[in-house]
Amino acid sequence: MKKTSANGSPPNYDCTKCPAYCCAIYERVQVTKRDINRLAKHFGVPYETALVRYTRMYGDERVLRRRADPVLQQACMFLHPKTRRCRIYDARPQACREYPDADRCVYYDMLEFERVQQDDSKVLPLVQITFRDET
Ligand code: SF4
Ligand code: SF4
Repeated sequence: MKKTSANGSPPNYDCTKCPAYCCAIYERVQVTKRDINRLAKHFGVPYETALVRYTRMYGDERVLRRRADPVLQQACMFLHPKTRRCRIYDARPQACREYPDADRCVYYDMLEFERVQQDDSKVLPLVQITFRDET
């Protein structure tokens, strides 16, 4: 959840008005050893404890664990179910720090588009992304 764009100007999206799609629709939020070390320090636990408690394997990648989410069905285990904010913002992985790495967020654009289309400022489109290997 980046708050300024790459060129330092205000981004064209507002995370405070979004249910945090980016923390929910991706099954994989990849974590590195550095990310796990940061989590371990944040929670005051050994590296191995953080590894097991907060991450899991997805194929050959290590990723953050997920859990049921009342709004978007499944989400990162660190997304607060009510406030829709990251509960470990200062200790979040590098992948989260870099997202979306652009002036725009496609999910925010979609949210705004649908609210205008439906003439309903509270409508919440549900989004799912499925990746398919076509090689
Ligand atoms: S999906 Fe986009 S607008 Fe919503 S929280 Fe993530 S970065 Fe912010
Ligand atoms: S660690 Fe925080 S910013 Fe990253 S996916 Fe989880 S809730 Fe979102």
